[in-house]
Amino acid sequence: MAKNNPANYRPCKVTCACGATFEVISNKDEVSVEVCSNCHPFYTGKQGRASKAGQVEKFNKKYGFNQKDTKEAA
Ligand SMILES: [Zn+2]
Repeated sequence: MAKNNPANYRPCKVTCACGATFEVISNKDEVSVEVCSNCHPFYTGKQGRASKAGQVEKFNKKYGFNQKDTKEAA
């Protein structure tokens, strides 16, 4: 049960739903994510590239952003 032992940390391949892949340091070999810095609206400044309909709205709601600008997103 040494899950978080620093010795277990190694390069981890992250695959995003948008198709981007990159590496992070983790105690897992592979991870799948739904958004990454490539496709996340926060970084891209664009809407409509989230992997699932509703993701953007959910995110905006969670963080209190105005949803009017994202109506056309999905
Ligand atoms: Zn992505």
